[in-house]
Amino acid sequence: MTVEQTQFPDKLIDRFGREIDYIRLSVTDRCDFRCVYCMTEDMTFLPRKQILSLEELYQVAKAFTELGVKKIRLTGGEPMVRSDVMTLIEQLGALPGLEELLLTTNGAQLGKFAEPLKQAGVNRINISIDSLDAERFKRISRVGKLDKVLAGIDAANAVGFDRIRLNSVIMKGYNEDEVLPLTDYALQRNIDIAFIEEMPLGEASDHNREDTTCSNEWVKQVIAENYELVESAERTAGPSRYVQVIGHNSRIGFISPVSHNFCADCNRVRVTVEGRLLLCLGNEHSIDLRAILRDGTKTEADLKQAIVDSMAIKPERHYFYDKDHAQPVRLMNMTGG
Ligand code: SAM
Ligand code: SF4
Repeated sequence: MTVEQTQFPDKLIDRFGREIDYIRLSVTDRCDFRCVYCMTEDMTFLPRKQILSLEELYQVAKAFTELGVKKIRLTGGEPMVRSDVMTLIEQLGALPGLEELLLTTNGAQLGKFAEPLKQAGVNRINISIDSLDAERFKRISRVGKLDKVLAGIDAANAVGFDRIRLNSVIMKGYNEDEVLPLTDYALQRNIDIAFIEEMPLGEASDHNREDTTCSNEWVKQVIAENYELVESAERTAGPSRYVQVIGHNSRIGFISPVSHNFCADCNRVRVTVEGRLLLCLGNEHSIDLRAILRDGTKTEADLKQAIVDSMAIKPERHYFYDKDHAQPVRLMNMTGG
């Protein structure tokens, strides 16, 4: 792709005046787990030529940072199962203008990669863990091994990232009695924990999401019955709200896209591993960046122009569980969590 001298804005602003300075970049749709809320048991993954190469992922990230994006989260699928992903992470860590490089992972490979990730410039890590009981952990992840994830969390903690946050999806009938054990586990390690409401992304194969989704209001109440909580002044532009436990450093987050709608503060877009720029988690509005990247007649300026133009179709909000609106058919591993 050649470079052309064209003037571009130094900020991405959508038609509702929201500044988009955060992208979630999915580096693979594959995973070594098959979590019940995220994937079906017999997943078919994308053929290799359909997914962006590491070089293409870098070009996308570079274009966004030159348009004012300051924060990139790598996600998937499981980012750490993509071969050579560390090469990409090192390149991203050196991108001018990028202030924060974040990773969401299932933690299974952090024993090996925590140190190189820190060296490459990753500032913060989110690690998903839904149970502290090995049998149950296996039931939810279908194949994951709890001891590897626990070792991964310890390794990440030892390396000293700016912040580590656990992500837990609480589901009725699966792990709703683990709200307190998971909270205690995080508090004892001085790390954060966020409870995520299960989202209706694609059809879950072994349960009906409307039966299992636990509202974060309930989760928060369970914690508040055991700990003294104060609202945290810190606000992230997104569906997370935090509280602090008196006497502890950890923050407890509640990511409530289903029971609350924080779309007015939205500052993010997602890029799927097929190079689809997805303007909202709960809608299908998107732009095909891969087509531009692979068209020999197009330049880096065309890529940037497409990104700038996409701001005109970013939806105002999502409509999860609203019967008058179509629900997303994408599973989370395709979307990039
Ligand atoms: N494999 C990595 C991991 O598990 O952290 C990154 C990708 S995963 C799709 C990102 C996050 O999305 C995880 O914390 C996972 O728990 C969450 N997730 C997946 N499907 C979900 C759903 N249907 N509703 C809510 N959260 C979901
Ligand atoms: Fe894999 Fe993460 Fe999805 Fe679990 S939530 S199946 S670890 S991508």
